[in-house]
Amino acid sequence: MSSTRFKRILLKVGGESMMGDRPYGIDPQAALAVAEKIKEIYTKHVEIAVVIGGGNIFRGIAGSKNGIDRATADYMGMMATVMNGLALQDALEKVGVPTRLQSALQMPAVAENFIRRKAIRHMEKGRVVILGAGTGVPYVTTDTGASLHALELKCDVLMKATKVDGIYDKDPVEHKDAKRYRTISFKDAIEMDDVQVMDTAALAMSKDNDMPVMVFELFNGDNLVDAIDGKDIGTYVANNVDTELA
Ligand code: UDP
Repeated sequence: MSSTRFKRILLKVGGESMMGDRPYGIDPQAALAVAEKIKEIYTKHVEIAVVIGGGNIFRGIAGSKNGIDRATADYMGMMATVMNGLALQDALEKVGVPTRLQSALQMPAVAENFIRRKAIRHMEKGRVVILGAGTGVPYVTTDTGASLHALELKCDVLMKATKVDGIYDKDPVEHKDAKRYRTISFKDAIEMDDVQVMDTAALAMSKDNDMPVMVFELFNGDNLVDAIDGKDIGTYVANNVDTELA
């Protein structure tokens, strides 16, 4: 049994984390670095489900802007997440973490079909469950898949590991004076339309079902370990918090 604050987590890892310094695709060293981070919390007996994105390979919106039918492009994006899932599975097993890959789109040659009760059983048995293909339906992204899976797998929290160390009042890349929120209510996060934290659909689903979200930078010190210990890092989004800057 884990002694950490959070016992079962849903970790959302964006596809960009898998590409390292490359402009596109998968860098096996980057996949290993993500795997090492996950191992740090796995060894603390936290039950972990990982939703992996696909933005390093293909995003439906970009495809549809180039003339591909949106739904078709989204299915291509979902397939990209399964590719990342396979790469992450390979990396996790290389660092000694047992895994199962489940996919919301049926691809039985490479991944189990997503079955909720089986995913829970895998976690109980000490396997990291990697969830590919998001929700399995188009017009949403893996953030929504992460929110949905966090709820149905009865996770304590949804952790969105990103390249930015939380949610800011303005885009921190463009504005040097941008300030980070320590906590923000779902209501305020949804209303902030100039800052893209997470899909509105994902935020709304988390809000309506009271699933707290932590947003933090994956490759920043011991952030992930600190996050599962409930330390004050990144930004915590919930219904029962006041919106406060760090
Ligand atoms: N996607 C989808 N339904 C889902 C999850 C993903 O259609 O439930 C598609 C969508 O086109 C998305 C792409 O898969 O752009 C890759 O996922 P995402 O953009 O969320 O990846 P990330 O930004 O996290 O790397």
